[in-house]
Amino acid sequence: MTKPNVLISGASVAGPALAYFLHRGGYDVTVVERAPALRDSGYAVDFRGTALDALDAMGIRDELRDHETRMRGTTIVDETGNEIVQLPAEAFGGELEVPKRDLTRILHRITADDVEYLFDDSITALTEDAAGVTVEFERHAAREFDLVFGADGVHSNVRNLAFGTNDDVLRHLGMSGAGFSTPNYLGLDGRGLLQPGKAAVYLFSTSPADRLTVSLSFATDSPALDRRTRAEQEQALRAAFAGHGWEAPRLLTAMSEADDFYFASSCQVHLDHWHRGRVALLGDAGYCAAPTSGMGTSQALVGAWTLARELSAAGGRHEIAYTAYEQRLRPYVAENQAAGRHAAASFGGEAPPSAP
Ligand SMILES: Cc1cc2nc3c(=O)[nH]c(=O)nc-3n(C[C@H](O)[C@H](O)[C@H](O)COP(=O)(O)OP(=O)(O)OC[C@H]3O[C@@H](n4cnc5c(N)ncnc54)[C@H](O)[C@@H]3O)c2cc1C
Repeated sequence: MTKPNVLISGASVAGPALAYFLHRGGYDVTVVERAPALRDSGYAVDFRGTALDALDAMGIRDELRDHETRMRGTTIVDETGNEIVQLPAEAFGGELEVPKRDLTRILHRITADDVEYLFDDSITALTEDAAGVTVEFERHAAREFDLVFGADGVHSNVRNLAFGTNDDVLRHLGMSGAGFSTPNYLGLDGRGLLQPGKAAVYLFSTSPADRLTVSLSFATDSPALDRRTRAEQEQALRAAFAGHGWEAPRLLTAMSEADDFYFASSCQVHLDHWHRGRVALLGDAGYCAAPTSGMGTSQALVGAWTLARELSAAGGRHEIAYTAYEQRLRPYVAENQAAGRHAAASFGGEAPPSAP
């Protein structure tokens, strides 16, 4: 009997995690990723609650512990760098925090032998009929799949193609920001420094100890910057931090020299349904809770695990599985999204009044 075959768009967190569980559940899995290779940028991601069980289910919790950032807490400083208060590690780091690139590499490694990865490509069209979905790509020839999953992030291509949506499903929380690394010229050793406000600086160093991880975030009312060039994003950051003292001028210079620059807006995705026909969304593509929630990676893992388990429980009948997946996960997502809005408001962004 031929195995059902599935296509997943996105090879960051949700995509490879779903690939792992579906391969184990007897599916032939292909992952398409727009980037030419695994993406190495990003700073730290953390895991809380059920996400740790998902790591156990993949057998990678202990390996991730070896990469733990081991932050010892964060010192809040004022605009001149003077200490205001010290916060414990749990305030930001979750129960387990690792560099983003280590998580991506491990998820890729545990799937690479069993899953087909198509890098440097993107879906251009999805046409569904009773037998399956015909998928057209930018580079590869068109192929048929039984099911298609969008794990391609907050600006999901699959969501736009299958649901006909665009950025109207995004709720911007009033903040955008960049992350990158630079030499650890401050000699930080496991404690973070946070200067909060409408233009906020967060600095920490873990491993390697000679690198300083920098996050610069600022209040803005548009998520459109995500789609702009790096030069335009840098320009927006320079404008937001103009006139700021302390480390800001030096960090802005370091930003331009960084080869691991990553930019993201604090957006949430709100959809009435996470599936349409044979297509389903997971992770940030379906229900991003915004970086301020600290739950994006946990949601991606828990979403992948839940979706795979529901497909297995429904014997592959996707309509039943997708509905159950959504019912099971909605309360968890609603809670995380509420936390994301709350945190954005307290960091200096603004929660939109219409948010549920
Ligand atoms: C490079 C990068 C660095 C990050 N760094 C951090 C961080 O430091 N801290 C933090 O808290 N969160 C970070 N995040 C976000 C975090 O990974 C997510 O919020 C969370 O883990 C949910 O993951 P996801 O897999 O659903 O989405 P994402 O992690 O956003 O991944 C989406 C993937 O889809 C790919 N993609 C996009 N469009 C297409 C397309 N048309 N076709 C195929 N593939 C496509 C993207 O290249 C990406 O690999 C980062 C994300 C990325 C992509």
